[in-house]
Amino acid sequence: MDYTLSFSGKPPLRVRSWGNFPVELMASLAGVKPVVHVWVETQELPELERLCGALGLSQLVFGRPDDPKPGGRLEVLVGKDPRQLKDTSEAWYRPHSNPGRALGYPDCCVRSYDAWFDGAGPQGTPVEDIIRRTWRNSGPGPFPFALNNVFYHYSRRWSAGNDEKRRRIAALNPGLDLNVLNVIPWHPCSYLCAESLRKAGATWSLMQRAAPALAATLKTTLAWPVLFWDWSRFLVLQAARAAPGEWRYTAVRPPFSLVEEETAALVRGGDRLRTAGRGPLEVWKGSRRVGKLPRETLLLDFGV
Ligand SMILES: [Zn+2]
Repeated sequence: MDYTLSFSGKPPLRVRSWGNFPVELMASLAGVKPVVHVWVETQELPELERLCGALGLSQLVFGRPDDPKPGGRLEVLVGKDPRQLKDTSEAWYRPHSNPGRALGYPDCCVRSYDAWFDGAGPQGTPVEDIIRRTWRNSGPGPFPFALNNVFYHYSRRWSAGNDEKRRRIAALNPGLDLNVLNVIPWHPCSYLCAESLRKAGATWSLMQRAAPALAATLKTTLAWPVLFWDWSRFLVLQAARAAPGEWRYTAVRPPFSLVEEETAALVRGGDRLRTAGRGPLEVWKGSRRVGKLPRETLLLDFGV
């Protein structure tokens, strides 16, 4: 998918959805990400170079040192300072190095991410989805939509089976660019992380002016309560908080996921969720309780 960037006094620029690049670019131009990482097809490199040139950014093609010559795709770093690009490229594939700080992630979030990553089980099996860790570090909510990382599928533990799940999720959401559905391109340490919020605010402010279509897509997908089980199983609700521990909803919204049909049907059959504290969520229809959601269900309220 393509996006148009508009800066006053300049002709519009086209940016491709090279993964999450349109959002990353906004964060870079807003001054919150000194370096951006992007994969492009070899034949697309001149287009990326033209775009960077028009925006006063440099780019550096790099790659894993022990890899044979890359085939069709190139790994590129983009940013204002060529020296920072070089330093970041040299550290990228160093064992046990996390490039997060070079990419502008808040220090608290890098430390939290490393603790989650290092806590993985045998064969790299994640102990839990990183979102559960972020949620545990947060208060009860509601949370700012700009920190919604439910659809941010980067920097997770990935396996071959996940690619197939990702394709199935894409098939459920035709016309929706799943790669760009986040304002901050990292996992926050908490949904109240002050530094993530500051950076999200700067990115969002620029995005609304320079890429309003992208901003509109993000607002209509991110700013809702989400029932969450894992990265591939969630339900976005057109909901509003009615009282402490109670939400009224009228619909399930995109993006759609691979959540079990039984759970989806239970939620679709209700119009209200209730919980006492962090206890199980109950689904109500009018004055009747129609069921309970599994205990591991999280309600992440990104309604503000
Ligand atoms: Zn943080």
